[in-house]
Amino acid sequence: MKKTHIVTLSFDDGFRKSFYKTAEIYESFKLRACFSVIAQGHLENFRPSINGVPDAGIVPFPKGDFSDWNALKKRGHEVMAHTYDHKNLTTIPLEEAKKDIDRCVEEFERNLRGFSARDSVYNFAYNASNAELDAYALSKFLVVRSQGSTPVNPIPTGRKPVRIGCWSHGPENCDAFFEETLNQFLASAGGWFVFNTHGLDAEGWGPMSSRYLQDLLARLVKLNHVEVLPAGAVVQRLPKPAR
Ligand SMILES: [Zn+2]
Repeated sequence: MKKTHIVTLSFDDGFRKSFYKTAEIYESFKLRACFSVIAQGHLENFRPSINGVPDAGIVPFPKGDFSDWNALKKRGHEVMAHTYDHKNLTTIPLEEAKKDIDRCVEEFERNLRGFSARDSVYNFAYNASNAELDAYALSKFLVVRSQGSTPVNPIPTGRKPVRIGCWSHGPENCDAFFEETLNQFLASAGGWFVFNTHGLDAEGWGPMSSRYLQDLLARLVKLNHVEVLPAGAVVQRLPKPAR
C-alpha cells in the first residue's frame, strides 16, 4: 500500500537518560529514532540562556556526549545537529550567526562518526530562524528544520536541500497537544508531519510520556499508509534530481 503519510518525531537537546530510553522504545518496534544534539551540550560550562536567564528546559538535566551519540548512531538511530551552542541565532548579528553554524559543522564532522553536513539535518535552536539564516544553513546541510506555519510539509521527491517546518509544545507535557495535532494530520490527504519533541517523562522542555510514545508507535506501525521515519532519512533515500 502506498505510504501517503510520513511521521517524524524529532527529539532535541541530548538528554542522556531520555535518549537511551527513546532509542529502546523505537527499537522495540524496529524503528529508528531521530535525535538532534548540541555540539557543546556535554560541556561543564554549557549554560544556554534565554534573555540572560538560564534555559530551564535544558540546564537542569544531564546531557550525553559524543560517545553516547556515536553509540546511538551505531545502533541505527539518526543523530543530527541541533546547533553549536543552542543560541537563538535571530538575536545575534548575521555574520556571527553564520560563524556559529560553521562551528557546528566543524564540531559534528570532527566528533560524530560518519557525519557529513551535506547529508545531514540542521535543527535551529528554539526553531528560530529567518530567510537569511535558512539560506545559509541550506548551503551547508541537506535538511534544515525550523518553525513551520503548519507541522505538515510536502513529501520531497528529490534528494536536494529542503527546509522543513515543525511544531512543538511546552513547557508542560506535550502528549495531548501532540495527539490532537497528529490526528488532524492522519485524517488529512497526507504529507510529512514533523513534530519537535525533547525528553521523556519529566526531562526537558515539553516532554512526552514514555508510555504515550510506546502506545503511539504501536498504533502507527499498524497503519499501512503511514511511515515513521527520522528526518534525514526521508530525503537521503531519494534519488538525486536529474540535471
Ligand atoms: Zn533545543
